[in-house]
Amino acid sequence: MDYDVVVIGAGAGGEAAGTLGAQLGGRVAVVERDLVGGICSFWACMPSKSLLDSAGRRRIGAEYGWDRASARRDWMISRERIDYPDDRGHVSGLESAGAEVIRGSASITGPGSVEVREVGGTPRQLNAKTLIVATGSTPFIPDIQGLSDAGYWTSNDGTSTRDLPSSIVILGGGVVGVELAQVYARFGVKTTIVEGNGRVLPREHPKSSELVAQQLRDEGVELKTGVVAKAVSRGGAGRVVELADGSTVDGAELLVAVGRRAADLEALGIEEAGATLGERGAASPDDHMRVAKDVYVAGDCAGGLQFTHVADYMGRIAVRNALGRDAVADLSAVPRTSFTDPESSGVGSTVEEARERGIDAFEVTADFSASARGFTIEPRRDSDTAILEGSPGHITAVVDRGRGVLAGAFAACPGASELIHEAVLAMKQAIPVSVLADTIHAFPTGSRVFGNLMAEARDKLDSKDPG
Ligand SMILES: Cc1cc2nc3c(=O)[nH]c(=O)nc-3n(C[C@H](O)[C@H](O)[C@H](O)COP(=O)(O)OP(=O)(O)OC[C@H]3O[C@@H](n4cnc5c(N)ncnc54)[C@H](O)[C@@H]3O)c2cc1C
Repeated sequence: MDYDVVVIGAGAGGEAAGTLGAQLGGRVAVVERDLVGGICSFWACMPSKSLLDSAGRRRIGAEYGWDRASARRDWMISRERIDYPDDRGHVSGLESAGAEVIRGSASITGPGSVEVREVGGTPRQLNAKTLIVATGSTPFIPDIQGLSDAGYWTSNDGTSTRDLPSSIVILGGGVVGVELAQVYARFGVKTTIVEGNGRVLPREHPKSSELVAQQLRDEGVELKTGVVAKAVSRGGAGRVVELADGSTVDGAELLVAVGRRAADLEALGIEEAGATLGERGAASPDDHMRVAKDVYVAGDCAGGLQFTHVADYMGRIAVRNALGRDAVADLSAVPRTSFTDPESSGVGSTVEEARERGIDAFEVTADFSASARGFTIEPRRDSDTAILEGSPGHITAVVDRGRGVLAGAFAACPGASELIHEAVLAMKQAIPVSVLADTIHAFPTGSRVFGNLMAEARDKLDSKDPG
């Protein structure tokens, strides 16, 4: 047997599995056909967050042009003065942990058996006691008349472009769509979002959606919500999108950001190793991330929440189990964040979702703009009145009345991405609301707004207020 574990794919999930597996003493090989480090490092999280930071500096008046933002992003993705990112940093990270990195495209040919093909090279056979599949996801391209002929960007183009278009239409008002819309708009690009749901960030709390939407509108982004694209053609500024309500929008570029599909595990050959795929080829791992004896999945390809922190977590769980330990995945409290300004974060269920699940739930909410922390932060708005207002935002908690614990929490305000973690831990450990209320939170912070909210929730629980 060549290896204890062969990991296929070296994105967040595979990199975590490969690194930890080698650190735990396993003989580990990681096979990657493109960039070691995956999409997060080069095309997704890191470049988009770098561009958002640059856009934020520009928004508050810094002399900050696109050239500088683009250069900073190129530094972030190791692409300075070259065309394609350089992944040597990630390769050496894996190798210094003790893993072997193998370049090429892998397919599974049987239990513990992997064939690797490098372009122009002869196929190489690898044998391993266990396999971890971490092959990620691909952009979902909807079947819209004329779309492929007209041409479009995926998020890879959207985060890596060195040249800004004069205008852009973004299909999809989820996290990727709103983040990139804010970047482009802040650098002067005429930006339109088309979102089929009635609001942007449809998975988040309606108050969060409205705050982010209002901010985008204030910055000149046109929002077309509750309507879908029907057809795309060349014309106008470059691409014309015909909407189902009969109206049209146009842009020099068209970015498709309507979600991502788990990688095709059937084509990879995972069934050859004994895994059974569900409807439409979906993996259904157990709580050890196992899909068959000695076969595990991690990350976007596992078919659940698509986040780097989830991929990394799954990769670590999978490799522990692959090396004979007993690690159970707890995905009950996963934070979600949009790094727009204001940031929007959530964990768990809205009050409606909780009630649908049979929980006797109620909601408490705080207006961030009327809090001490909100007062200290001037809104990022171009108006003379902004200096006399608190920064807008909300923090909302959903409480499970029967158990006296959180069922969900949402925040859209400066610092939301950090403060949400108190609710994440509270949900994971089922920490009583009374304990959260009795916890001292520093003044004046967003976390303190959350603490005060917990005191309000505790009082409601104590008074049996049906609220
Ligand atoms: C624009 C954008 C911004 C995002 N921002 C955030 C964010 O801020 N925070 C966050 O948590 N998440 C974010 N995400 C989501 C996050 O990027 C993904 O959830 C995460 O990177 C998934 O990691 P992964 O390891 O599952 O997949 P990937 O990173 O896609 O890695 C899979 C790897 O497998 C390789 N591979 C596939 N098939 C084979 C094969 N047959 N042989 C060999 N190699 C193969 C691929 O080349 C790839 O490198 C963002 C996504 C996008 C699109």
